[in-house]
Amino acid sequence: MHNVTLIPGDGIGPEITGAVRAVIDAAGVKIRWDEQQVGQRALEMYGNPLPDHVIESIRANKVALKGPVTTHVAKGFKSINVTLRQTFDLYANIRPVKTLPGINCLFKDVDMVIFRENTEDLYVGIENVIDDERVEAIKVITRNASRRIAEKAFEYARLHGRKKVTAIHKANIMKKSDGLFLEEVRKVAEKHEEIMYEELIVDNACMQLVQKPSKFDVIVTENLYGDIISDLCAGLVGGLGLVPGINRGEEYTIFEAVHGSAPDIAGKNIANPLALTLSAVEMLKHLGEHKAAESIQKAVEDLLRQGKHLTPDLGGCSTTHEMTKELCNLIS
Ligand code: NAD
Repeated sequence: MHNVTLIPGDGIGPEITGAVRAVIDAAGVKIRWDEQQVGQRALEMYGNPLPDHVIESIRANKVALKGPVTTHVAKGFKSINVTLRQTFDLYANIRPVKTLPGINCLFKDVDMVIFRENTEDLYVGIENVIDDERVEAIKVITRNASRRIAEKAFEYARLHGRKKVTAIHKANIMKKSDGLFLEEVRKVAEKHEEIMYEELIVDNACMQLVQKPSKFDVIVTENLYGDIISDLCAGLVGGLGLVPGINRGEEYTIFEAVHGSAPDIAGKNIANPLALTLSAVEMLKHLGEHKAAESIQKAVEDLLRQGKHLTPDLGGCSTTHEMTKELCNLIS
């Protein structure tokens, strides 16, 4: 029996976390879920969008599966997603982007992994109002955070037989901050002569990603570029409904999809649960449940190959429930 903190989140979060629980049950893995509310719901229930007991639950379990949480635009409380990553020092946001079978998308041979620094950059949230006409936002880049995300990316490349790491930056303009990031990545690259290393300016990288994504293998980048590039790359392989994510630190790990709370489709029973399902596959591997992880991964691929039970984002007309039911059938 594993103990895992479950954060359903909001928007489509409760629908897709419910689906993933059913899939994990079908795979026969026993998990004691410690369900916790954050965000607007927690604010209403406890007067705090990230209550202490949620932090304590993650601290005790060390592993969490998290649905998306809405962050209001230009107002409201600080992003719960960012706060969790900073609180637990989940410095590596790892996002595998791979073409899956049966998906009708432009590229058939995408297979890359994005390593996004997850704790600093403009996401430190330091914004100062200078006067009524001017506001400044502070971008923080440190040697330590740059080095450890680079180490994670190269270590992953070495362990998984990946050939190349690409550092994505804007050091032509942000010479000091992105310059420091690159300095540290280069030092790590020098220790891994067997792995090819290249650097690309972020705008050029975006152009090359949409023209020839198969030339990318492992990407290492800062927080903001990584956030934007992840959604761009999801679009290359069929959309946000298919790309999983891992927030990893030394002690704690939170598994969540790349996508957000999708308020435009929330409550309609049409959200695609596969991105969170694939995040849960990564969680099961982390928990040592390799057989179950393999059988869920295979069921996802079989379901996509069949192409009969797809949610609208994938061109189908099935509901979240129908897709989940079929996924469970394919597992058992
Ligand atoms: P989004 O990722 O929620 O949605 C973008 C588009 O993709 C929408 O059209 C949506 O319907 C679609 N989509 C996303 N996930 C889908 C799924 N599983 N199935 C089918 N379609 C899906 O991005 P947004 O609309 O810009 O953001 C909405 C909210 O989510 C914002 O408050 C944002 O801050 C938050 N957000 C949270 C996280 C997180 O919790 N980690 C990540 C990103 C955004």
